[in-house]
Amino acid sequence: MNSVVKKVALKTIGCKVNQYETGTLRQSFSSNGYQIVEFGEYADFYIINTCAVTAEAERKSKQMIRKAARINPAATIIVTGCAVESNLDDIREFKDISFIAGNSFKENIYLIINQIPSTEKFPAIFTSPIEQIRQYKESTCYSTSNRIRGIVKIQDGCNQFCSYCIIPYLRGRARSRPVKQILSEINTLADKGYQEVVLLGINLGSYGNDLDDSQVSLFDLIRKIENITAIKRIRLSSIELPYVNKELINAFVYLPKLCHHLHIPLQSGDNRVLKLMNRKYTTEQYYKTVMDIKEQVPDIAITTDVITGFPGEDVNAFENTLDLAGKIGFARIHAFPYSERKFNLASFLPAENEEIISKNRSREIIKLSKELHKKFIFKNRGREGHVLIEYQGQKENTNFVCGLTDNYIKVYINNTSTPKGQMIKVKIVDGKEGYAIGEPV
Ligand code: SF4
Repeated sequence: MNSVVKKVALKTIGCKVNQYETGTLRQSFSSNGYQIVEFGEYADFYIINTCAVTAEAERKSKQMIRKAARINPAATIIVTGCAVESNLDDIREFKDISFIAGNSFKENIYLIINQIPSTEKFPAIFTSPIEQIRQYKESTCYSTSNRIRGIVKIQDGCNQFCSYCIIPYLRGRARSRPVKQILSEINTLADKGYQEVVLLGINLGSYGNDLDDSQVSLFDLIRKIENITAIKRIRLSSIELPYVNKELINAFVYLPKLCHHLHIPLQSGDNRVLKLMNRKYTTEQYYKTVMDIKEQVPDIAITTDVITGFPGEDVNAFENTLDLAGKIGFARIHAFPYSERKFNLASFLPAENEEIISKNRSREIIKLSKELHKKFIFKNRGREGHVLIEYQGQKENTNFVCGLTDNYIKVYINNTSTPKGQMIKVKIVDGKEGYAIGEPV
């Protein structure tokens, strides 16, 4: 007798690491015969991988729990992720949840729900003190996604404790994934036709510091990935400034597959605010390091994050941030209004800035980012390089494709139909607001 195929819907709130982990959950269910459906559709199981980095992310996470219960009140709802670590009491208030799994149980969710019967009345809860986890926990499956580039998690946790950040309390201590597992996953991605991989982590730069084998640093790992012929591009997600050392800068100079794009969160351009944030650098150090990289890799895109309205950020401090960002000439800036989190050290600081001030300052940063991004695109006119195609379309009967260069410029190319996931070599002939026009060479 044919058994009914069970349907699973997965939802991720938050960062790329969370998205990677949802990808491993998706694979663990689909490889066991479950049908993966969109989150808005009817399903037997709903898995919500939550985030708690801001109050807004936590609100969205809870909204998804309610949505799942509305679509199918009889469904098995599983909640995991950082909101479970930051606010278990709140999460367990939801009567519709069957299983609650903390970050250290996330990769075992498939095994958990298939081995432990859910009780009608109370959710089954699986959590353990995340700060006690010292070893990187390998997922049972590699991550799958319909992305154009393969995302690969290589590190988890963080030991930096920036005063505005809740992540070290939710993801535990920094721990690195063994090289062998990383290379094996990247070889699998290469066999599937992926040409670009993005290396992810919570504090990527700290990769290798906790591994017994002292011969393993991020630079060593990138060099090993370079040897995988089918992989044409290696992209780094985000790196903290203290880890941007000579060795890493050399990687951008000498390793041809490493994308000329580096995301280095600045957060503030004011030394007094950086100190209050417990950031491990000064504006002078940040500026000098970025100028060193730009000197050795002139076409590199340096992108960054800035928090606006942090307690103690007065008008003068904010002006310093705008000045420094302009002086550095970032390729793009992501702006985040400060969001107080209950654990973080900054919550003990006197909150001086109203939310509206934080939001207005974020708008000013975004306005500056658009100007700087346009300048960066114009600076790249005449540059030749490969574009990884992410999108194909047609406009007024003209076929066009679109994708990213290695230095993170979106390029439109007309009169070609290179397939998604493939590379095409182009010359940037013109720049527009937010994108460039390229011609095949
Ligand atoms: S480096 Fe700072 S901002 Fe990044 S995860 Fe660690 S504590 Fe949070």
